[in-house]
Amino acid sequence: MTACDICEMIAKKDDFKVVYEDDKVVALLHETPAFIGHTLLFTKEHFRIIEELSDELTSHVFNVANKISTAIFEALNVHGTNILVNNGADAGQTHAHFGVNIIPRTEQDGISLEWPMQQADPKKLEDTSKLLNDFVMQAVSGAGVEKTVKMDDVVIKSDEDDYMIKQLKRMP
Ligand SMILES: [Zn+2]
Repeated sequence: MTACDICEMIAKKDDFKVVYEDDKVVALLHETPAFIGHTLLFTKEHFRIIEELSDELTSHVFNVANKISTAIFEALNVHGTNILVNNGADAGQTHAHFGVNIIPRTEQDGISLEWPMQQADPKKLEDTSKLLNDFVMQAVSGAGVEKTVKMDDVVIKSDEDDYMIKQLKRMP
Protein backbone atom coordinates (compact mmCIF):
# COMPACT_ATOMS: atom_id res chain seq x y z
CA MET A 1 0.00 0.00 0.00
CA THR A 2 1.46 3.32 -1.02
CA ALA A 3 1.36 6.23 1.36
CA CYS A 4 -1.66 8.47 1.02
CA ASP A 5 -1.61 12.06 2.23
CA ILE A 6 -5.30 11.99 3.03
CA CYS A 7 -5.00 8.73 5.02
CA GLU A 8 -2.16 10.37 6.95
CA MET A 9 -4.27 13.44 7.50
CA ILE A 10 -7.14 11.29 8.80
CA ALA A 11 -4.73 9.49 11.14
CA LYS A 12 -3.70 12.90 12.49
CA LYS A 13 -7.22 14.31 12.42
CA ASP A 14 -6.87 15.76 15.90
CA ASP A 15 -4.42 18.27 14.42
CA PHE A 16 -7.27 19.55 12.25
CA LYS A 17 -10.72 20.99 12.93
CA VAL A 18 -13.03 17.99 12.95
CA VAL A 19 -16.62 18.93 12.08
CA TYR A 20 -18.04 15.41 12.13
CA GLU A 21 -16.85 11.85 12.59
CA ASP A 22 -18.32 8.37 12.70
CA ASP A 23 -16.91 4.90 12.05
CA LYS A 24 -16.97 5.36 8.24
CA VAL A 25 -16.29 9.04 7.52
CA VAL A 26 -14.61 12.12 8.90
CA ALA A 27 -15.24 15.76 8.01
CA LEU A 28 -12.52 18.38 8.47
CA LEU A 29 -12.51 22.11 7.96
CA HIS A 30 -10.43 23.09 4.93
CA GLU A 31 -7.48 25.18 6.12
CA THR A 32 -7.21 27.07 2.83
CA PRO A 33 -10.91 27.28 2.07
CA ALA A 34 -12.82 28.71 -0.85
CA PHE A 35 -14.96 30.25 1.90
CA ILE A 36 -14.71 29.86 5.67
CA GLY A 37 -16.58 26.72 6.68
CA HIS A 38 -15.50 24.86 3.51
CA THR A 39 -15.60 21.26 4.71
CA LEU A 40 -13.82 18.18 3.36
CA LEU A 41 -15.65 14.91 3.94
CA PHE A 42 -13.51 11.78 3.53
CA THR A 43 -14.10 8.06 3.78
CA LYS A 44 -11.89 6.64 6.53
CA GLU A 45 -11.09 3.67 4.35
CA HIS A 46 -8.87 4.43 1.36
CA PHE A 47 -10.80 4.61 -1.91
CA ARG A 48 -9.44 6.48 -4.92
CA ILE A 49 -12.62 7.41 -6.77
CA ILE A 50 -16.35 7.22 -6.16
CA GLU A 51 -16.73 4.15 -8.38
CA GLU A 52 -14.79 2.14 -5.78
CA LEU A 53 -17.30 2.82 -2.99
CA SER A 54 -20.06 0.35 -2.18
CA ASP A 55 -23.62 1.54 -2.73
CA GLU A 56 -24.10 1.53 1.03
CA LEU A 57 -21.05 3.70 1.69
CA THR A 58 -21.93 6.07 -1.17
CA SER A 59 -25.35 6.48 0.37
CA HIS A 60 -23.86 7.15 3.81
CA VAL A 61 -21.32 9.66 2.49
CA PHE A 62 -23.95 11.74 0.70
CA ASN A 63 -26.38 11.53 3.62
CA VAL A 64 -23.66 12.97 5.83
CA ALA A 65 -22.76 15.57 3.18
CA ASN A 66 -26.41 16.62 3.13
CA LYS A 67 -26.48 17.00 6.93
CA ILE A 68 -23.26 19.01 6.90
CA SER A 69 -24.70 21.22 4.18
CA THR A 70 -27.83 21.75 6.28
CA ALA A 71 -25.70 22.61 9.30
CA ILE A 72 -23.64 25.06 7.23
CA PHE A 73 -26.81 26.82 6.09
CA GLU A 74 -28.04 27.19 9.65
CA ALA A 75 -24.80 27.84 11.49
CA LEU A 76 -23.03 30.12 9.03
CA ASN A 77 -26.04 31.96 7.65
CA VAL A 78 -25.12 31.37 4.01
CA HIS A 79 -27.55 31.13 1.13
CA GLY A 80 -26.20 28.16 -0.77
CA THR A 81 -23.67 25.35 -0.79
CA ASN A 82 -21.74 23.58 -3.50
CA ILE A 83 -21.42 19.85 -2.80
CA LEU A 84 -18.57 18.90 -5.05
CA VAL A 85 -16.58 15.77 -5.92
CA ASN A 86 -13.49 15.99 -8.10
CA ASN A 87 -13.54 12.47 -9.47
CA GLY A 88 -10.29 11.61 -11.27
CA ALA A 89 -7.24 13.61 -12.27
CA ASP A 90 -8.92 15.08 -15.34
CA ALA A 91 -11.59 16.49 -13.05
CA GLY A 92 -9.03 18.26 -10.88
CA GLN A 93 -8.57 15.57 -8.22
CA THR A 94 -5.05 15.98 -6.84
CA HIS A 95 -4.96 13.20 -4.24
CA ALA A 96 -5.93 9.60 -4.76
CA HIS A 97 -8.44 9.49 -1.90
CA PHE A 98 -12.14 10.04 -2.49
CA GLY A 99 -13.66 13.07 -0.80
CA VAL A 100 -16.55 15.50 -0.95
CA ASN A 101 -16.20 19.28 -0.72
CA ILE A 102 -19.04 21.13 0.96
CA ILE A 103 -18.56 24.81 0.19
CA PRO A 104 -20.66 27.54 1.81
CA ARG A 105 -21.84 30.10 -0.74
CA THR A 106 -23.16 33.62 -0.66
CA GLU A 107 -24.21 35.82 -3.53
CA GLN A 108 -21.09 37.95 -3.53
CA ASP A 109 -18.38 35.51 -2.40
CA GLY A 110 -16.47 35.84 -5.67
CA ILE A 111 -16.17 32.06 -6.10
CA SER A 112 -16.49 30.97 -9.70
CA LEU A 113 -17.48 27.44 -10.69
CA GLU A 114 -18.61 28.41 -14.13
CA TRP A 115 -17.78 26.67 -17.37
CA PRO A 116 -18.17 27.77 -20.97
CA MET A 117 -21.53 26.79 -22.45
CA GLN A 118 -22.28 26.03 -26.06
CA GLN A 119 -25.42 24.74 -27.72
CA ALA A 120 -25.20 20.99 -28.24
CA ASP A 121 -25.89 19.45 -31.62
CA PRO A 122 -29.42 17.87 -31.44
CA LYS A 123 -28.21 14.63 -33.05
CA LYS A 124 -25.36 14.32 -30.54
CA LEU A 125 -27.77 15.00 -27.67
CA GLU A 126 -30.07 12.27 -28.91
CA ASP A 127 -27.24 9.75 -29.48
CA THR A 128 -25.59 10.52 -26.14
CA SER A 129 -28.90 10.25 -24.33
CA LYS A 130 -29.51 6.77 -25.77
CA LEU A 131 -25.93 5.64 -25.10
CA LEU A 132 -25.89 6.92 -21.54
CA ASN A 133 -29.32 5.56 -20.75
CA ASP A 134 -28.16 2.13 -21.87
CA PHE A 135 -25.00 2.25 -19.75
CA VAL A 136 -26.76 3.73 -16.73
CA MET A 137 -29.38 0.98 -16.79
CA GLN A 138 -26.58 -1.62 -16.93
CA ALA A 139 -24.70 0.08 -14.09
CA VAL A 140 -27.81 0.37 -11.92
CA SER A 141 -28.65 -3.30 -12.45
CA GLY A 142 -25.03 -4.20 -11.69
CA ALA A 143 -24.52 -5.91 -15.02
CA GLY A 144 -22.07 -3.48 -16.53
CA VAL A 145 -20.32 -1.80 -13.63
CA GLU A 146 -16.92 -3.32 -14.35
CA LYS A 147 -17.08 -2.14 -17.93
CA THR A 148 -17.65 1.48 -17.03
CA VAL A 149 -14.42 1.94 -15.06
CA LYS A 150 -11.09 0.40 -15.79
CA MET A 151 -9.42 0.63 -12.40
CA ASP A 152 -5.91 0.22 -13.79
CA ASP A 153 -6.43 3.37 -15.79
CA VAL A 154 -7.04 5.52 -12.73
CA VAL A 155 -4.20 7.99 -12.52
CA ILE A 156 -4.22 10.73 -9.94
CA LYS A 157 -1.58 13.41 -9.85
CA SER A 158 -0.35 14.47 -6.45
CA ASP A 159 1.56 17.41 -5.07
CA GLU A 160 4.04 16.13 -2.51
CA ASP A 161 3.90 19.18 -0.32
CA ASP A 162 0.20 19.92 -0.42
CA TYR A 163 -1.97 17.54 1.57
CA MET A 164 -5.19 19.39 0.77
CA ILE A 165 -7.20 18.68 -2.29
CA LYS A 166 -7.14 21.61 -4.65
CA GLN A 167 -10.80 21.55 -5.38
CA LEU A 168 -11.47 24.63 -7.40
CA LYS A 169 -10.46 25.05 -11.00
CA ARG A 170 -11.42 28.61 -11.66
CA MET A 171 -12.31 29.61 -15.18
CA PRO A 172 -10.64 32.79 -16.40
ZN1 LIG B 1 -6.02 7.43 1.45
